[in-house]
Amino acid sequence: MSDHRELLARMLGPDGPEVSCEQCFELLDRYVDIELAGGDADARLPGMRAHLEGCPACREDHESLRAFAATAADEAPHV
Ligand SMILES: [Zn+2]
Repeated sequence: MSDHRELLARMLGPDGPEVSCEQCFELLDRYVDIELAGGDADARLPGMRAHLEGCPACREDHESLRAFAATAADEAPHV
């Protein structure tokens, strides 16, 4: 049953870095930070976007974290 692996590898593209859900979860904070700072999160953390596009669970996490981070930044007290 190696077909599944091959199919997955093809979906991720040629020598695209593979990000597991666990890694995705660990990097999500930084990914969102870079995104909100206007940086190129996809270039800094390769493989993340591909994973988010292919993984509804992580995509949902990403969206709620982004919404949360945006709200938190908005509500941050002026120092
Ligand atoms: Zn995932």
